Amino acid sequence: MARRQQRQEEADFTARIKELLLERRDRLVASINRELKDLREGERFHLADMDDLAGDTADESTAYMVMEIEQAELDQIERALAAIEAGTYGTCEECEGKIDIERLKALPFATLCIDCKRELERSSSEEGD
Ligand SMILES: [Zn+2]
Repeated sequence: MARRQQRQEEADFTARIKELLLERRDRLVASINRELKDLREGERFHLADMDDLAGDTADESTAYMVMEIEQAELDQIERALAAIEAGTYGTCEECEGKIDIERLKALPFATLCIDCKRELERSSSEEGD
């Protein structure tokens, strides 16, 4: 019975995460679309006022950077949503063990359990770079 209760808790948790992810995805998509629109309007502005080009270029690269970060987050959200659909959400990609639910609460896009994550960090820091 305790085990069934735990499964139910996990199912509730996954449903809640899915809602959060969908909401976050909608916001990101809206924000990226808005920035794309701003950039397109900015291009027209450049043609009208070449003197201001340098300042606008800096603004533009910031906008692209923000969009890149948002796009990366969007990719992570899509991956997490796909995992939820496939029923593999919360499973470590490396050892296929369960990712601790507390870890997922803090990091909903985590694809590695804490042990594999630490292992990865250790081996990448040993390699240098
Ligand atoms: Zn693992």
